[in-house]
Order: sequence, then structure tokens, then C-alpha cells
Amino acid sequence: MFADIILPIPFDSFTYLVPSEMEGQVMRGCRVVVPFGKKKIYTGVVLQTHNNEPMGVEMKSILELLDECPIVNEHQITFWQWIANYYICPLGDVMKAALPGAMKPKDEKALKESTRNRRGGKTTASLTETDLPNPLNNVQQIALEEVEESFQEKNVTLLHGVTSSGKTELYIHLISKALKQGKQVLYLLPEIALTTQITDRLRQFFGEKMGVYHSKFTDIQRLEVYKRQASSQPYQIILGVRSSIFLPYQNLGLIIVDEEHEQSYKQQEPAPRYHARNAAIMLANQFGAKTLLGTATPSFEVYHLAHKGIYGYVKLTQRFRNMQLPTIEVVDIKEAKRKRQMKGIFSPRLIEAMRTSLDHKEQVILFQNRRGFASFIECKTCGWVPRCPHCDVTLTLHKKTSTLTCHYCGYTTRIPDCCPACEEKKFIDVGTGTEKIEEQLHQIFPEAKALRMDLDTAKTRLQFERIINDFSTHQADILIGTQMVTKGLDFDRVSTVGILNADNMLNLPDFRSYERTFQTLSQVAGRAGRNQTPGLVILQTRSADSDIIRQITHGDYWQMFYTQMLERQMFNYPPFRRLIYVYLRHTDDHLLEHLATEMASKLRGVFGERVLGPDRPPVARIQSLYIRKIMLKIERNLPPQKVRQTLISIQQQMMALPVAKSLNIYYDVDPL
Ligand code: ADP
Ligand code: ZN
Ligand code: ZN
Repeated sequence: MFADIILPIPFDSFTYLVPSEMEGQVMRGCRVVVPFGKKKIYTGVVLQTHNNEPMGVEMKSILELLDECPIVNEHQITFWQWIANYYICPLGDVMKAALPGAMKPKDEKALKESTRNRRGGKTTASLTETDLPNPLNNVQQIALEEVEESFQEKNVTLLHGVTSSGKTELYIHLISKALKQGKQVLYLLPEIALTTQITDRLRQFFGEKMGVYHSKFTDIQRLEVYKRQASSQPYQIILGVRSSIFLPYQNLGLIIVDEEHEQSYKQQEPAPRYHARNAAIMLANQFGAKTLLGTATPSFEVYHLAHKGIYGYVKLTQRFRNMQLPTIEVVDIKEAKRKRQMKGIFSPRLIEAMRTSLDHKEQVILFQNRRGFASFIECKTCGWVPRCPHCDVTLTLHKKTSTLTCHYCGYTTRIPDCCPACEEKKFIDVGTGTEKIEEQLHQIFPEAKALRMDLDTAKTRLQFERIINDFSTHQADILIGTQMVTKGLDFDRVSTVGILNADNMLNLPDFRSYERTFQTLSQVAGRAGRNQTPGLVILQTRSADSDIIRQITHGDYWQMFYTQMLERQMFNYPPFRRLIYVYLRHTDDHLLEHLATEMASKLRGVFGERVLGPDRPPVARIQSLYIRKIMLKIERNLPPQKVRQTLISIQQQMMALPVAKSLNIYYDVDPL
């Protein structure tokens, strides 16, 4: 008897001999310990057992069986296989992402220890009897009924509700109903939006029935949730981030994907590069469950399918208690610059609006999509710019720490005393990050208390939560931040939101840049005027007359969607075609160019005109590896299975080339 075992390495599976004493006990989904290569020992999961002896290979035996019953259920294995297939990556990589710390035996010892300690310490178990959901108002009630009706016919429904319309209240009602039917619910949120704000809000209604799962958990904590979900008394609700789609579920009835447009649902690195929203829809289908996608600014992919009637569509156009959506005022900074009215990056209009808010003891949020002080520094005499020695990017200036940092690999160095090219000592800084804004702010509003929220100040979950807490309890007047401040935060005293420079985002060389700018800016704007205070948004830009800025200020999603879709169709971009990026990495740039050209030509042999490139991506070297990208634009009706087979077979031909020894090839399916 033989068993195919998935190991935590980038391959699908390996076949091992099942020793006679383990026959009948080694089952699909159980963990086993196996030898690998000359010295290694791995813990893997049984994919299947069979009697087909592989030809011409020397077989090794399973050393140890760790589970009496499978710890990975049939649903999960089917799901893993779908991920591996669709996202073109080995099963081993999927397993690594799916199981907490690969569930090595030593972790379980630690888990037992930690549960024992906790049990010993805490004698009075806190019994919480929970609140009933808030009654819905008229429009919300109608929307709820529409969602339920739509679920009668369709598996997926888009809830397109303006910020603060009560989407979360609707979710709470839907969750309660699913629980009453004895079904499990998965509530997905982007990592950064999973704050104590939302956890406490849901805990109030669902108490101990709800488990929380996020990426800042330790391996032991993840294992604890995993084991509980695999047990006979699982949490009925999981509130979690993208990786919670990999937990074991038993009778899932509903998946909610909140802020479905969020980019961070896509895993970028490492493989599997899956999109949690799309994978969640697959997962729900496996269980015959329904999926609700909620957002104020739908992704094109989802809106397109809703528009075609494949997904259901429910709209909420009013804010709760009829609060007005904030007014968005555009300030032309080209004009203000010409008239020399700007104070640093602040226009007079923005300063005035901020002053009014502060005078009324209200709060202000400032948004800039760049951290650090300046984008880079430049020698004033000869124009020399410091770059990362490992990546093909300039180093970002962080003035507080007097350092230059690479935002790709983390390389950090001190600001040089003098220019290594001409030995002059004067540098100028170019571009504006959150740190520079903070500095300028102190000069304009010395009395105001400001907090900064970006990857530098909110490195850990605790720091992040502290900033949110300090701001919501009004211990600060102004919150300056990057994308982090856009994620579904609910502050009730913010009356002014300042968008310091909309152009950074609009001008990115990406076919999605308008869609993204619309989403991000509408989301930031939505932080204003959420309670009694009416909101004002000051949007600073050099392209005040452009269509996209007009669409944003009027909240005209449809117009933005319509014009952008015409372009997408013309150039065969998603959602009309499926994109696959093929990445090649190597330490030798010349050799890489040669190999990438070779691979692209093989791909053209099969896919013809659908292949573009190879190109150098915008950052063409990261951590000393050179990178090339080949783009495939595939018709949506080509079966993913076939595409995968073709790509893998071409990859194998490439890897068989003697010069391709340390070539690294990987895929990004539906890249964002
Ligand atoms: P969204 O998720 O659409 O941004 P929320 O559900 O967060 O909106 O609602 C915005 C605010 O209004 C929240 O503070 C919420 O508690 C309140 N709210 C919305 N609907 C109701 C309701 N039916 N009853 C009580 N409070 C509500
Ligand atoms: Zn110089
Ligand atoms: Zn670097």
C-alpha cells in the first residue's frame, strides 16, 4: 500500500510506502512524519492512499502516523486542490498557507501547555448572555429582504451601500438568522480593518459563539482556533482575515466578505497568490452556502458580474439617520502654487477648513498615500540619488531616524555625510510622505495634537489599535495617515478630511489606477461626517478639471465604471479577460533576458497573441534577484485546468535547459 503525501515544500505530493503495521490507519487528511532526501524529516498530510506502485523509484516508508482521525477534512482537500489549480502553484505551498505552522508536533505540545496554564489560572469562566440585533430602519429592512430574495436564486450577492449606511447592521441580522438555522458563518475583513472596534461590536451580539482569527496571532493561537474548528464544538462564527478561509468548516451557511474591493484580499507573496474573495465564493459553493459581498465602492470584477445578473445586486443609498454624505471640494494646487499660496503641501482652503474644525473641537483626518519624509534625496550639486544596493529602487528618506530605507527589502542606511559622487554636502529632498506632513503641520497648527498612522508608527497590532483608540477618544485632533486610515474606521467627530495629493495615485502606470483612486478617495471621504458632525472633504490635485476627479466628487460610480470599462474592453483587460503574469527571477540579468525571451516564445507557440512581453516590471530587481514579467490575457472561458497544464509543461521544458539551473518561475493569476 502507498500514500501520496503533501509536504511543506513547493511540490504537489510525494509517494511513500505505508508500513504494514499502519495499513488501514493511514487515511486521507491525517498527518504523517516522513524522511526526505538524505537527512531531512518532514511532517506532511496524506492526500490519498492507493496500490499503484510508482515505476523506477526507490520508495521510502512513512516513519510515524500522528493522527488517529483526519485533521484535514474532505472539504479542505478539495478546496486546496482548487487553489493549486486555479492559482497555478504546488499543493505543498497551499498546505503551508492553510495549516498553522505546518502543525508540527512540537507546536502541539506547546498548545497543551498553554491551555493547561490558562485553565489553571482562570477559574471563573465568564458567561456572557448577549444583546439582540438593533432593529433595522425601513430602507435597511427592505435591503435585508432583497438580499434574502436574491439568495433564493443566486449564490453571490453584492451589497452596494454607501459608507455608514448600516451594512454591518445588516450583516448582524443575516448572521443571526444563519445561526438560528444551525449554520456556520465566516465574516471576512481585510487585515487592517479587523480592529477591536468591529470585534467589540460583534461580540456584543454573538459573545462566545464568535472566534477571531488574524495574522498577528502566534502559531499556537492559530492552532488553537484551528483545533476548535475541527472539533465537535466549533465556533459558529469566525471573524477573520483572508487566511481564515483555510480553517476547517463543517456546515458553512454564509460567508460575508466586507470591503470586497480591498486589494489586501489578494495574497502577493509567497504562493499561493490567491484572492480571498474569489476563493471564498468557491468555498461557499462547496457547502451550498451563500456569499454576501459588501462595499461602498465595488471592484469592477464584482460590479460587472452583478450588472450582468450573475450576482445579485442590492443597493443602500442613504446613510443611517439620513446623515449627509460629505461634501467634496476640489482645490487646484497648480493654481495655488502659481500664486505662491501653498504652505508646504497645504493649500489655504485646507488650512481654513482644518482651522474651523479645530475651533469647533472637531477632528481632522489627513490622507497621503506615501510614508516616510520624502520619496528620496538628491545631491544638490550633481543630482546623485541614493539607491538600494539590492533592489532597483531609490531609498526613502526617514528624517526622524536620519535614515534612508528601502521599502521593498527593508535595507536601511544612514544619510551620508557627503555625496559619494562629488563630495558636496548639500542634499535636497523630493516628494512628500506622511512624516513631512506631520512636520509641516506642527508649524501651521503648533497647538493641535496630531497622530501619525503608517507602517512606521503602526508596526504592531498593539500600536495600530492604540492610535485608533487615542483618536476615537479624542486624545488627538488630527490623524495623518496612509491607506491605513481608509479602512472602515468609524470615528464620530471627524468633520474635515484632507486629501493632500490625489495625483500620486492617479498617475500610477496601472490600468486599475482610476478604479483604485476612486475607491480609496471615496473610502477616505467616508470617514467624515459619520455622526452628528457634517463632513467636508478637501481634495487637493493638479488635475482639478479631469473627468475622474469630477466622478469622485459627485460620487458617480456608474460613470467612472462605464468610461473605464470601455477602455478595458478595448485593450482586453479584466474583467473582460483573465490576466496571468508569469514571473522569472535570476541573479544574472543577461541570462535572465535570454531565458525570458525563450519562455515567451514558447508561450506564443501555444497562446499566440495573448502573450505580451517579456518586460522589466517597474521594480526590476528585488533582493538581488532580477525580474522579468510575461503577461497573458486569456479568454474567460478557457478552462483553468488546461491553462495550468500548458504553463507547467512549458515551465518544465524551461527548467530542463542546462543554463536554467537556478531560474525561478512563478505565476500570479488575476494579479492586482
Ligand atoms: P457601514 O457598515 O455601511 O459603514 P454601519 O453599519 O457601520 O455602516 O453603520 C454606521 C453607524 O450607524 C454605526 O455606528 C451603526 O451602529 C449605526 N447604525 C446603522 N444602522 C443602525 C440601526 N438600524 N440601529 C442602530 N444603529 C445603526
Ligand atoms: Zn553630488
Ligand atoms: Zn531593497
